[in-house]
Amino acid sequence: MNKYGFLGLGIMGNAMASNLLQAGFEVTVWNRTLEKCSSLVERGARLANTPREVAASCDITFAMLADPAAAMQVCFEADGVLSGIGDGRGYIDMSTVDGETSQAISVGIRDAGGRFLEAPVSGTKKPAEDGTLIILTAGDRSLYEEAVPAFEKMGKLFPFLGETGQGARMKLVVNMIMGGMMTAFCEGLSLGQKGGLDGQQIIEILMSGALANPMFAGKGPMILKGEFPTSFPLKHMQKDLRLAIALGDQLGQPLANAAAANETFKRARQLGLSEEDFAAVCKAID
Ligand code: NAP
Repeated sequence: MNKYGFLGLGIMGNAMASNLLQAGFEVTVWNRTLEKCSSLVERGARLANTPREVAASCDITFAMLADPAAAMQVCFEADGVLSGIGDGRGYIDMSTVDGETSQAISVGIRDAGGRFLEAPVSGTKKPAEDGTLIILTAGDRSLYEEAVPAFEKMGKLFPFLGETGQGARMKLVVNMIMGGMMTAFCEGLSLGQKGGLDGQQIIEILMSGALANPMFAGKGPMILKGEFPTSFPLKHMQKDLRLAIALGDQLGQPLANAAAANETFKRARQLGLSEEDFAAVCKAID
């Protein structure tokens, strides 16, 4: 049985590593802030002091880090993943980053003698806890095949999308649409309520027709209550919009809706909402 490593135990990484542990795999963990390792270590995970130690001691190391800067740092810094990977061991980065970051990490890992797969995920805290994420993989096919037993514990679907960069691009497409849908939803709720309509009724009517979707069902009540326990931090949604817009620039693709949504999320960050759930963007719209 493969030994797995896990780097980055934030909202998502903690739940995902927990599912590997729950399934009976040997899991070694590392997180920049040590305290976040403790619940997993109490349940039998091994603790490593550096990403290098994890990559050197595990057959496959997963990472779930905040953004491109974090993903690069954990790989390329002294005592980072590159200094421990080798002999064909696997590195699977599940963070949401841009294709260029993924490509740079892929080259670094391969030059160091390892194999690389990108695998950003669609789905938030609850699907991570339930092991029902959609895992968007691309890169080394042999590593994909080898990681299937772990993917089966973390996700319900794990399509292989081809060359490194395609998983990152797929993920940015998904989240760009999601960010635009969220701002449109918040604007609709605000407009309706200012016009004297009942918020609950607006949601019920939306959910009865062609616009019904799990995101409106899940986030609608939070917006009406004005309480935003964090499943997906707002700062990460703004990062994803920024990366999608950069991809649009590269490819000459107009992204008027995404650009407008990004400005609203930037405003929300200015208002101090970065750590709240991304549904808190409604406070920048009210
Ligand atoms: P999070 O709770 O903010 O966790 C971020 C993780 O990255 C933490 O472990 C953090 O370590 C680590 N980190 C940040 N900067 C670092 C650095 N410079 N060096 C080392 N480690 C660093 O975020 P999350 O919600 O789990 O999301 C993780 C990734 O998944 C993001 O790319 C996000 O866009 C993506 N994602 C999130 C969701 C969601 O619903 N939450 C869904 C799909 C995809 P510390 O604990 O030390 O801060």
